[in-house]
Amino acid sequence: MTKLGDYRDRRFILFDQLKIQDLTKYPLFADHSQDIFEMVMTEGEKFAENVLWPLNEVGDHVGCKIEDGIVTTPPGFKEAYAQFIEGGWLTPGDEPEYGGQGLPNSLCTACSECTHGANMAFANYPNLTHGAGILLKIFGTDEQKKKYLERMWSGEWAGTMCLTEPGAGSDLGILKTKAKPQPDGTYLIEGTKTFITGGQHDLTTNIIHPVLARIEGDPMGPKGISIFIVPRDRINPDGSVGENNDCKCIGIEHKMGIKGSATCQLAFGENGKCVGEILGKPREGLMIMFHMMNEERLFVATQSLGQASSAYQLALAYTRERLQGRHLSQGKNPDAPPVPIIQHPDVRRMLIWMKAATEGLRALNYYTGHCIDMSHVTEGDEKKMWSGLVEILTPIVKAYGSDTAYDVCEQAIQCLGGYGFCSEYRIEQCARDVKIASLYEGTNGIQAMDLLGRKIPMGKGKVFEVLMKQVADTIEAAKKSALLKPYAERVEHARAELIKGTQHVAGLAGGKDFMLGFLKATPLLEVFGDVLVAWQLLWQATIAEEKLTTIAGGDIKKAVKENNEAAYLDGKIKSAQYWIGMELPKVDGKVTTLLVNETAALDIDELSFT
Ligand SMILES: Cc1cc2nc3c(=O)[nH]c(=O)nc-3n(C[C@H](O)[C@H](O)[C@H](O)COP(=O)(O)OP(=O)(O)OC[C@H]3O[C@@H](n4cnc5c(N)ncnc54)[C@H](O)[C@@H]3O)c2cc1C
Repeated sequence: MTKLGDYRDRRFILFDQLKIQDLTKYPLFADHSQDIFEMVMTEGEKFAENVLWPLNEVGDHVGCKIEDGIVTTPPGFKEAYAQFIEGGWLTPGDEPEYGGQGLPNSLCTACSECTHGANMAFANYPNLTHGAGILLKIFGTDEQKKKYLERMWSGEWAGTMCLTEPGAGSDLGILKTKAKPQPDGTYLIEGTKTFITGGQHDLTTNIIHPVLARIEGDPMGPKGISIFIVPRDRINPDGSVGENNDCKCIGIEHKMGIKGSATCQLAFGENGKCVGEILGKPREGLMIMFHMMNEERLFVATQSLGQASSAYQLALAYTRERLQGRHLSQGKNPDAPPVPIIQHPDVRRMLIWMKAATEGLRALNYYTGHCIDMSHVTEGDEKKMWSGLVEILTPIVKAYGSDTAYDVCEQAIQCLGGYGFCSEYRIEQCARDVKIASLYEGTNGIQAMDLLGRKIPMGKGKVFEVLMKQVADTIEAAKKSALLKPYAERVEHARAELIKGTQHVAGLAGGKDFMLGFLKATPLLEVFGDVLVAWQLLWQATIAEEKLTTIAGGDIKKAVKENNEAAYLDGKIKSAQYWIGMELPKVDGKVTTLLVNETAALDIDELSFT
């Protein structure tokens, strides 16, 4: 079968770049070792390829079905879900007391790349269950943890997140779902939620919905929102699952992609009998839900990476086999045989762009996971620093990651010519599936506003400075290599441009020209992504060059032909050279657009959009 993702690249980032084996010196990870990490990685890859990937196509073709409010997932999903749970893949990074294995987030991200790359629609069910469990773990009472969390993370029950309503998408402040206090401390929930992933399905015996709603009498706007735990089916005092909790699935969406993921419209309390328990305190609903949303945004970033990686690998395999056209050097020789299309310069251009983009995204995703790990093992200012990095990186990996992944899938289709457009080759499914990543968990436009309006100003710009310092450190290290020095200098220039652009746009956003500032939020986020990918690739190239010199001695070309590891390492250097040489210069033009105060998009009258 086609190789999914790049085995060596995952291990290179984890063990050569981030050196996650060093985490085992901290008490939190002391029970683990590099051998364990490698074994988990290998098992994750096997599970994704052998169990989830074969179901990807059937999930797309059959999709989810609804009949009388009962939603059926595609054939094989139920069995795969049971195997997923059995393998411990729901909670690999969580504490053993919750049934987890306490593994580093960076490693879990790598495993999750495989799951998402193999079957993004399937992966949504456990993602949401895990995220809903996080809310209970942090904010639930002991009783709620016992009642819900244990059975969710054991895989017996699933979870969702119920935010969106027909009239409240990006702006949750206007949501209408109501919560009426009852004498026993519970609430009656009434309202309709739309687009709820896994809102109803046949994978588990119950589904626990965290629902955003407004307690009667609470103010409109985000500050009036509370969060409630609403089981689909009631739970009897003895723990058994009882009657339906007046919570009904009234429809599922027919979508462009992730067809195996049930996207449901849910009606709560049509008969006035839907009972929910408050989670945390009244009017803290959005703050609480953000804990789940932040985790889900990182999942979405990893979904994007997984799909980009699969699309690239599928395209790569095809271009090695498809014979078409003579080699350019044989253009005038009518007897020259056709060559594999990977030999044509234009195809190589597409391939190396996809390779560099995917490797850069992979590194940025795992690095974000590594920042989470470091925030867990450090204290005080250091902990704050790592947490700050996670916060500023989240909108970037989510938005830049999903937009770039979609572009990778599009280029992968292009590599196959007309066959890329046909479902048999499976890349068009990657493109359709990954498109949702730029839309859910806060559209990419909202991510860009988050970066500009909240994350860049954090700590009066200190977190941004810390991020830029990390980039600067890599540049200084790379300058020591004669081969990489010119590339390091280009990244240095792009970094300076990014800082200039950020200061200008942040200045606009914080002043009277805030409309103009926010007009530039998405282009600014894009520049962040371009530069951060260059940073990661430069960092990797520095490591790869050193290793390659050791392996190859003086003859790199020969080593590349004879030794897979040498070929891989040389490919890493080429990824960095391509991205920094061919993509990064575009940052100059992009920053120019940030600095130019062009207001046409704001000035144009709505009537002039003809
Ligand atoms: C397949 C799928 C699964 C989903 N799963 C879930 C789920 O499990 N739970 C859940 O609660 N929701 C879920 N959603 C909903 C999803 O999160 C929303 O679709 C998303 O938040 C956008 O809301 P909307 O669709 O109403 O678009 P709108 O909010 O109407 O946005 C439309 C456009 O306007 C832009 N826009 C809106 N407001 C602003 C603003 N203030 N400034 C600048 N631009 C703005 C947006 O960026 C976007 O481009 C899912 C959606 C889909 C399609």
